[in-house]
Amino acid sequence: MQQDSLWQAVLGEIELTVSRGNFVTWFKNTTLQKQEEGSIVIGVANIFIKQTLEKKYTDIIKETLEKNGVKVQQVDYRIVAGPPRTPQPEKQTDHGDQPKLSSLSSDIPSSQNVFGAPAKDVLSHGYGQGLNERYTLDNFVVGDGNELAFAACQSIAQQPGTKYNPLFLYGGVGIGKTHLIQAVGNAIATRDPKLKILYISTEQFVREFVQALRQRNTASFASYYRAADVLIVDDIQFIAGKDKMQEEFFHTFNTLHQANKQIIMSSDKPPKEITPLEARLQSRFGGGMSIDMQVPDFETRCAIIGTKAQSHGTELGHEVIEYLATNGQTNIRELEGALNQLLAWCEMRGIEPTMAIAASLLNVSKARPKHLSAKQIIERTARHFQIPMEDIVGPKRDKDIVVPRQVAMYMLRNELHLSFPKIARELGRKDHTTAIHSVDKIQKESQVDASLRNAISEIKEHLYA
Ligand code: ADP
Ligand code: MG
Repeated sequence: MQQDSLWQAVLGEIELTVSRGNFVTWFKNTTLQKQEEGSIVIGVANIFIKQTLEKKYTDIIKETLEKNGVKVQQVDYRIVAGPPRTPQPEKQTDHGDQPKLSSLSSDIPSSQNVFGAPAKDVLSHGYGQGLNERYTLDNFVVGDGNELAFAACQSIAQQPGTKYNPLFLYGGVGIGKTHLIQAVGNAIATRDPKLKILYISTEQFVREFVQALRQRNTASFASYYRAADVLIVDDIQFIAGKDKMQEEFFHTFNTLHQANKQIIMSSDKPPKEITPLEARLQSRFGGGMSIDMQVPDFETRCAIIGTKAQSHGTELGHEVIEYLATNGQTNIRELEGALNQLLAWCEMRGIEPTMAIAASLLNVSKARPKHLSAKQIIERTARHFQIPMEDIVGPKRDKDIVVPRQVAMYMLRNELHLSFPKIARELGRKDHTTAIHSVDKIQKESQVDASLRNAISEIKEHLYA
């Protein structure tokens, strides 16, 4: 196959496997520069694309080449000026070694800049980059803890730059900050594709800035960011202590803000707790709308799990969802991790996810909650069923005592992951097989008996309240 048609075929396939945004940003203007036995050289427009392809996409490229009958061990990337359509003369091959910064800047004619494109193209290059289509406002579940942030984002999506500027979302890890700010970017891009939307993590922002400094090219860096219509900066807390970056960002911020361009930031802490941070930035960060995001409540967590499972094509039963929402940690990222683990496990074995499987999978990785003791669980169970503590751990075998005792055993197993002999001892039984049967029985019955299920969740709610 001709080099060019081979590469077009490879690109065609990659386009189907990565998101459109990623394809346009990272692959669209690449070319096959050289193909030899076992190795290829791909031409890219700039150092950012080179680094990203190296880090994230080399395997996909190799696999896709192989599907097209070309097996390579070595994939190198070479920065070629402009949209690289024609292969460059041999002497410019760099075999994928990262060009030294000094040589990189001297390789690029003066009319070009750090972004590797001619200066006149800089301001349109890469806008929209960094947005991941996976995050939308539609697939964000709204509930206690994130309602306000969501409402602000929705309003910004309709009319960027008018209200809530800047928007500053802060809160702990894994609670949906990145999801929301990405979703606003995507929503604005959909409504008005002409707008220049820039999403960037602060770490990348700082890296690019350092590079621009080294190449004495801060002017194009600045003009690139200052030409954005919407600037979204994730995890801005990482700007702490970076003096030059703060100075630069201050001016970018002002330019955009004065022109009524929307600025959105996320952080793991409120502006005044980001230190060291210049006072003037601190006051700018807090000068629009700052919103403290909280871990969503139980019902919202259930809704999130249900939605995520659906997006995997799986309908989860109530009890599995509730089990995950109670036990799979409260941070949504971890919750999603627990769900993915469960779905993958079941898919591999071709079985439906059940609460028993969820329980056994989570038990492996889950530590015991430190604040809960066996005694508290037994007491709470006894109180729920309105029987005395002496009875639940005593010798009586009446049905209205036996069932609560079994529920207590089940709770000890699921909440504290105690061994069966220990469970038996805690409830004054000598034989641990009683504990095994009891846990098993409640496990099974709770799947068909709604009132039993309610009893268990009510007890749990009190224990974790
Ligand atoms: P943060 O940036 O606050 O650390 P992320 O935005 O990365 O957290 O969220 C972690 C994961 O949880 C992501 O996969 C995100 O889609 C998901 N998530 C968090 N909150 C919600 C929500 N309310 N609805 C749907 N998914 C959510
Ligand atoms: Mg984040």
